[in-house]
Amino acid sequence: MRTQAPSSIEMLQRLVAFDTTSRNSNLDLIEDIRSYLSEFGVASTLVPNAEGTKANLFATIGPASEGGIVLSGHTDVVPVDGQPWSTDPWTLTEKPDGNLYGRGTCDMKGFIAVVLSHVPAFQRARLKVPMHFAFSYDEEVGCLGAPALVEKLMGNVPRPRAVIVGEPTMMGVVNAQNAGGGIVTTFTGVEAHSSMTHLGVSAIHFAGDFIHWLNELQVELAGRKRSDIDTVPGHTTINVGIMSGGTAGNILARECKLNWGYRTLPGDDPWEVQRRAEKYIAELLLPKMKAKHPDASIELKRRSFLPALNPDENVEAAKLALEWTGGNRTYAVPYGTEAGIFRGHGVSTVICGPGDIAQAHQPDEFVARAQMDACDAFVGRVIKWAETA
Ligand SMILES: [Zn+2]
Repeated sequence: MRTQAPSSIEMLQRLVAFDTTSRNSNLDLIEDIRSYLSEFGVASTLVPNAEGTKANLFATIGPASEGGIVLSGHTDVVPVDGQPWSTDPWTLTEKPDGNLYGRGTCDMKGFIAVVLSHVPAFQRARLKVPMHFAFSYDEEVGCLGAPALVEKLMGNVPRPRAVIVGEPTMMGVVNAQNAGGGIVTTFTGVEAHSSMTHLGVSAIHFAGDFIHWLNELQVELAGRKRSDIDTVPGHTTINVGIMSGGTAGNILARECKLNWGYRTLPGDDPWEVQRRAEKYIAELLLPKMKAKHPDASIELKRRSFLPALNPDENVEAAKLALEWTGGNRTYAVPYGTEAGIFRGHGVSTVICGPGDIAQAHQPDEFVARAQMDACDAFVGRVIKWAETA
């Protein structure tokens, strides 16, 4: 059995080389991690998607007891399409500035690399409580893989004490996070020649009305800005990310699809925006559309939902993570991660990982070598703690 560990940066080099853009299969990477773990005698369990094209992986080192720590990360990355990269995004490249460039270095193969490089150290340690690794797929497209992973993990291992989600926080301890909802609204109109607007219904024009309404709602919700929580901008936000529809400039569009979403602060009602959108459509927009033509319709479909992370529910994980980082305060972030899914299963959860979220999703994404070192030290302290816990 192998005992010699790669460094976390060697491990990162290996992980970055897999193009795990969310639209691709992640199985090559997962198989590589699985074979790496088995070289050290660690068995892993795969939790595949329905089509068998992607998989989550979980593995445990240490005793089969309660009170373990879950180290969690996602294996997928966002696309590099159209981005001006100055290095090959799939080859880890260290520049003289001490930064390690490549897609996923910061979000979030850096954390996974650190965890994996410590496998031999976990194996050697006299762990009193287990370490669980949970690596998911499709985080970047709405956290689609994690629910099944978390369900399987929680059903298979005695209750863990805390979860660390290693998204980039500059190794700060994040215990508060917004909830996020992703929605697709499809407007179906009736095609007609553009000179005969009385004969048809433009799906695009009604989608425009809906966007206008969302903008007004956004202004109203911004008026309820909260000062008790330090996420910026401190209120619910709404964004229409994709609008698609129409076939020609002289045809009333038959279809228009809006892919949009919102984020609400911990403690706020995470269903308010969807509920009000449904009410607006049912009571105002759809009747107006149907008055033009009875065949017109609007469908609102939830695509994804991520629960918020409430600080007061994650005291245990925050206390431990602060001990391991040496930090003295916690942070709140506006973006979504898989943390809310773990929290939904009743386990204290925080986010803490190497790299700056500002570098995530960018061309020339990087993680600083110093951040990898800090995360190495963090995992070292997790191991020490687990030997005495
Ligand atoms: Zn991420």
